[in-house]
Amino acid sequence: MNQRNALIVGGSMAGLFTANMLHRAGWDVVILERATTPLSGRGTGIVTHAGMLALLRRAGVTTDASLGVPLTRRLSFDKQGRITAQTAFSQILMGWSRLHALLVDALPAHCYQLNRGVAEVAFGTTSARARAICHDGETVEADVLIGADGVRSLVRGVMLPNEHLETAPYIAWRGLVRQSHLTASAQAQLGDAFVVVHEPNEELVTYPVLGDDGHVYINIVWYRRVSDAQRRQLFTDEAGAYHPQGISPLAIRPGFVAQAKADASAIFHPHLAEAIALAPEFLLQVIVDQTAPVMAVGRTALVGDAAFVARPHVGQGVTKAGGDAWALTQFLEAGRDDVVGALAQYSASRVPVGKRAVARARELGAVLMPDERSLSEWSAHYSDAQNLLVDTAVELPGLAHISVMDEGVT
Ligand SMILES: Cc1cc2nc3c(=O)[nH]c(=O)nc-3n(C[C@H](O)[C@H](O)[C@H](O)COP(=O)(O)OP(=O)(O)OC[C@H]3O[C@@H](n4cnc5c(N)ncnc54)[C@H](O)[C@@H]3O)c2cc1C
Repeated sequence: MNQRNALIVGGSMAGLFTANMLHRAGWDVVILERATTPLSGRGTGIVTHAGMLALLRRAGVTTDASLGVPLTRRLSFDKQGRITAQTAFSQILMGWSRLHALLVDALPAHCYQLNRGVAEVAFGTTSARARAICHDGETVEADVLIGADGVRSLVRGVMLPNEHLETAPYIAWRGLVRQSHLTASAQAQLGDAFVVVHEPNEELVTYPVLGDDGHVYINIVWYRRVSDAQRRQLFTDEAGAYHPQGISPLAIRPGFVAQAKADASAIFHPHLAEAIALAPEFLLQVIVDQTAPVMAVGRTALVGDAAFVARPHVGQGVTKAGGDAWALTQFLEAGRDDVVGALAQYSASRVPVGKRAVARARELGAVLMPDERSLSEWSAHYSDAQNLLVDTAVELPGLAHISVMDEGVT
């Protein structure tokens, strides 16, 4: 039997999980990534879960103690440093770049093609193979085409032209600060706990992560309620150009960064304000909900953020991407002679999972949207610091598509 081939559009988390899993199942895989240089995740930490670690192992990554920073507790405290909530919770915290590098290293180098942006796709049918046309004009055919091209996916746009994302009424500032650059007392308070602090219209999450350079950094995710006009200003550079989908850290107006740092000292405990003040650079991110009625058409499927985007409160974007990849691989292996049927089954299995993740994330985000009537019970529930602390960034059942039985004792 000829080796089956898969074309994967996008070489970030979802693309790499999918490529590694299909490769290990015997597929010939190629990732077409539009970036011209290797990706890096400036200013980002990633929360891991048991399901995510199991998925990494299926993708060929060794999950030993060197993966990240192991934590055993969660903490919330007020401006005066009084503890308002705490809980024991074991979790490994990683840097995005390290996770990406591990997934790249697990894949044969020739499978990953940079500077290969895809401009057009044809989904394929039972009798016709799927096709991608690259920006360089080359057409590539495949038994299966995977859209792993993120929140504003080209593949999704062709598959679901009438489905649009919803923007949340808050944004996130994300940053990293070297732990050793903080005062000893801030290091002690922020260096061994997952911290969640809620104030009116603000939520701040910090945790230590292992950087690419082997140093420990404090990762900062600071959600701030904004009006539409404020969001527009924040995402407009000095020259007046508006970047609605995301602004480069270098283009953020310095005055906005200075204002945010000043606000942090007025709102948060001095250790948190210190971490924010010393972060050398920030990413500003729009927060969105994205759902999909289907995740496959013909020989083409969506994985990761191309299909569903849940707000980051659930800390599950990577687990969801890996779970999609694992489900896809399993359905394709089970339905060897019928790719179109296998992808339809994949879609039917994963759409409800994606919907649940988006809904759960909105419930957690309700603490920042007390005026959202449909979520008022959740807003009240998560105004209690203990509830917010125990439910933020915990694994959602089914998301990893791996049951405890499958996982065995590995
Ligand atoms: C503030 C914040 C905090 C978060 N925290 C966490 C966390 O703690 N834990 C967690 O699991 N998740 C977290 N997430 C979510 C997580 O980052 C995403 O879910 C995950 O990165 C999605 O991966 P992806 O591969 O689907 O998409 P992306 O990472 O968006 O990758 C898409 C890729 O496709 C490429 N591409 C796009 N178009 C084309 C094209 N036409 N041709 C070729 N290539 C193309 C892009 O260059 C990119 O490399 C967070 C997100 C935010 C915003």
